[in-house]
Amino acid sequence: MILGITGSIGSGKTTAAGIFSRHHYSVIDADRIGHEILKKNFPIRKRIINEFGKEILDNSKNINRKKLGDIVFNDKKKSRKLNSIMHQAIIKEIKNQIQRIKNQCGGNAKVVIDAPLLLETKTKNLVDKVIVVNADKRKIFARSKHFSKSEIERILKMQMPLNEKIRHSDFVIDNNKDLAHLEKQAEKIIEKLNQK
Ligand code: ATP
Repeated sequence: MILGITGSIGSGKTTAAGIFSRHHYSVIDADRIGHEILKKNFPIRKRIINEFGKEILDNSKNINRKKLGDIVFNDKKKSRKLNSIMHQAIIKEIKNQIQRIKNQCGGNAKVVIDAPLLLETKTKNLVDKVIVVNADKRKIFARSKHFSKSEIERILKMQMPLNEKIRHSDFVIDNNKDLAHLEKQAEKIIEKLNQK
């Protein structure tokens, strides 16, 4: 069983994936894979620097994700360009990780892919079920430590609208209350999936 968890920035995807992990699901974190690629995949690094300029580098010549984010979260065309460069490599690594888990666990492998762009990209073709985590803007503002209110507004505008995400989902988790409420809903989904 391969699940995909998605939702807007700061909605609680990673927290929800953590609950699945406590119920024997292996977690694949698409964002983390993206960060590793920016650090270690030299052909892709080069393409990104060529595309977005040397000003995205920090003093140690590493790609500064904040600077890159400032560019792409303000421009849909640039955001699409970045995704087109990154996407294939991310998908490839997700497939590798799925294979490694299947080699370890066999046909009964339980995997959850935490991917903000699950529905916008071909990542959705890799999953059996889609879970959308939803939180109101007010909660997202309060919980997001890494982004300002205006940055969040900008990022939300770039992402697929919630109602569209919900249309493509098999399960929706409401994450507007406390962690216990989130956990209860995730466990209900796990129970349902176990019954199948
Ligand atoms: P991002 O898009 O930035 O990767 P995310 O969707 O993965 O974010 P999380 O990192 O899971 O979101 O959650 C954002 C923050 O909100 C975290 O600090 C997390 O601990 C907190 N959080 C998530 N759900 C709840 C909740 N129900 N009650 C209180 N805090 C929560």
